Amino acid sequence: MTMNVDFILVGQGLAGTLLASELFRQNKTVLVFDDPAAPKASLVAAGIINPVVFRRMTKSWLVDDAFPQMEKTYHQLEDLLEEELYYPGRMLKFLSEEGAVFWKKKAFANQIETYIDAETNLNFRNSNITNHYSFGCVNKSGRLDLQKLISASSEFLTQQNSLRKVKFDFEELSIKADLVSYEDITAEKIIFCEGPSADRNPYFQNLKFKHSKGEIIELKILELNMNEIISDEVFVMPAGNDRYKVGATYTWDALNWETTDSAREELLAKFKKITQLIPEMISQKAGIRPTMHDRKPVIGVHPECPRIGIFNGLGSKGVLLGPYFARQLADYLVGISDFIHPEADIKRYFKSSPSSDQGAKKGILRSGFEKL
Ligand SMILES: Cc1cc2nc3c(=O)[nH]c(=O)nc-3n(C[C@H](O)[C@H](O)[C@H](O)COP(=O)(O)OP(=O)(O)OC[C@H]3O[C@@H](n4cnc5c(N)ncnc54)[C@H](O)[C@@H]3O)c2cc1C
Repeated sequence: MTMNVDFILVGQGLAGTLLASELFRQNKTVLVFDDPAAPKASLVAAGIINPVVFRRMTKSWLVDDAFPQMEKTYHQLEDLLEEELYYPGRMLKFLSEEGAVFWKKKAFANQIETYIDAETNLNFRNSNITNHYSFGCVNKSGRLDLQKLISASSEFLTQQNSLRKVKFDFEELSIKADLVSYEDITAEKIIFCEGPSADRNPYFQNLKFKHSKGEIIELKILELNMNEIISDEVFVMPAGNDRYKVGATYTWDALNWETTDSAREELLAKFKKITQLIPEMISQKAGIRPTMHDRKPVIGVHPECPRIGIFNGLGSKGVLLGPYFARQLADYLVGISDFIHPEADIKRYFKSSPSSDQGAKKGILRSGFEKL
């Protein structure tokens, strides 16, 4: 018997989870495919929310729109899934003498006071933290428990008969003028939310991915007693019960999911500059951040085949930006709005005429569309 849904989604990491919830909210039917054997960036990520770009001391891209949407979405998901997921909190940025001057100067010049305390050297004392010249405080920071979001959403989708925990096979997909079909399912559209595996998707070979590998460790540190996230050469993020996540490394070669001794040593060496307390190692994880060449998300429908869409590129500030772009894409897909932010629009990869684009030249797109 054929099953008909409005949308097939491929991938149930942060991107697929957020898009599915937005489409449900708009009373659309959804079937999500998720490969249980494939690794997920969302199960590695710390889930930190930072509305500021420290290097330039500016607001993070689109933060004034993205932050309220983020809070709304995660609260809605907490209600729906009956789980605590979103932990608003503060982040302390350690500053050098010049850093403190820069912080104060830019706080006003760049209008970031909504998110940070313009003053440095506030009333923060923790005898276990190594002395620093000064520190600045981001008041609107925090974290999302991504692991809990993914597992609770997976249960919810399973109860709704909206999740198939199997690998999606491109060979079985057929794209027609008026629908897409896959095995026993027909749908209006299919949206790929595959995270870092998207660079192997035959339909998106001309997108410019620039993924990075990241490693993170989890430590038990008795007596540290920090509620704030620390940002120095590494972040130290409280995760409850004297556990802290410390990360993350960035590398662009050897893009695999294997943990390395060198990353662990790098993280521990940077951690030791923050406190002399001796930690107990709990775990180490490695993952790949799904990132585009310009570090912006990529959303929208394929300019040459509007029955296929994509929601990806959340590797940079994904927890903060994901809800904003999930809402935008869902509104676009259901026809409420025709706006997609031009800097995130998939169309930016299709500036040249279809016949001259890189993918078509390589014949990759053509083979992807054989069943069109
Ligand atoms: C070390 C590290 C630290 C990070 N820290 C932060 C942070 O502090 N804050 C932040 O905002 N972001 C952080 N990120 C980025 C964050 O991971 C991403 O924003 C986000 O999790 C990406 O979600 P996604 O859904 O795009 O990809 P993923 O979580 O990888 O999900 C993709 C899903 O697609 C599925 N899939 C792929 N192909 C198929 C197929 N053919 N069939 C079926 N299923 C398929 C996979 O199984 C997977 O479940 C971090 C990332 C890393 C690696």
